Amino acid sequence: MDYQSLIEEVHHEVEVMGLRGQLANYIPELSLVDPNQFGICLVDCKGNIYGTGDYQKSFSIQSISKVFTLTMAFSVMKDIFRKRVNVEPSGNPFNSLVQLEQEDGIPRNPFINAGALVITDAIISQYPDPEKAIHNFIRSIACEVQIPVNPLVHQSELAHSSRNRALANFMKSFGNIDNSIDRIIEVYTYHCSLEMSCEQLAKAFLIYANDGHSVFCEDHILDGSSIKRINALMLTCGFYDEAGDFAYKVGLPGKSGVGGGVGAVLPGRFSIAVWSPELNTKGNSVKGIKALEILTDKLGVSLF
Ligand code: GLU
Repeated sequence: MDYQSLIEEVHHEVEVMGLRGQLANYIPELSLVDPNQFGICLVDCKGNIYGTGDYQKSFSIQSISKVFTLTMAFSVMKDIFRKRVNVEPSGNPFNSLVQLEQEDGIPRNPFINAGALVITDAIISQYPDPEKAIHNFIRSIACEVQIPVNPLVHQSELAHSSRNRALANFMKSFGNIDNSIDRIIEVYTYHCSLEMSCEQLAKAFLIYANDGHSVFCEDHILDGSSIKRINALMLTCGFYDEAGDFAYKVGLPGKSGVGGGVGAVLPGRFSIAVWSPELNTKGNSVKGIKALEILTDKLGVSLF
């Protein structure tokens, strides 16, 4: 399969459509990026890397980091699921408070902010230096050392974290938060502020396409049944309240972030990362979603 020509063709087709969206501006620092950037990187299960456009430029991974913290939680604390975080799509915006009240402070899934805050809380309880543990985990699955935190994005998120603090406080009132709210918000915003390129992200996502193995380093990161569950969560909950639409159009497990990145996998074949900062009204990258739709249509493959 000539993946290089394919992604170049897709990149070109999307570029000439002139699609526009909005930069995330509720985290002010994210509204300062050049909106015209657009990169695609595909990594096949043999470890061949194909890239086009801005695929080596770093961007804010934001909620894509929730896949990595979920993966850490899966390796060490499976009993958190259902007891403290559920595994159902929410059908609500990522930072919504409403379901939490009806469902006794148990978030619907680990990819909405409330669920990711519970996972971060559990990681804080487990590791003496949670920032370092998360950072090192991501470096190890991507087999990349250069994955910086953007301190300006981190500060910007911290300064505009009222909604996330509200979610954490609300869950604490139901007894579903152990650590201090300040500490949880610090660690959560830290992992959202990490920066990766499409190439690094596609390398990290390869474990979800390759039964828990990375071909870039020797480690076997997770067993196949955990990978199955993480992929199921990505498919059903990975795109905010647009997860159904993404499954319909693209048909791959994946996760997006408000930095405009999307990571996705076709198990047994490849992982792919697309980045373009302008978002649709649901918070997903406009060009990223279109690129993945065209790519899976052209390939004639998906999970289905
Ligand atoms: N740090 C962002 C927030 O909590 C992540 C949002 C996202 O990418 O979905 O609002």
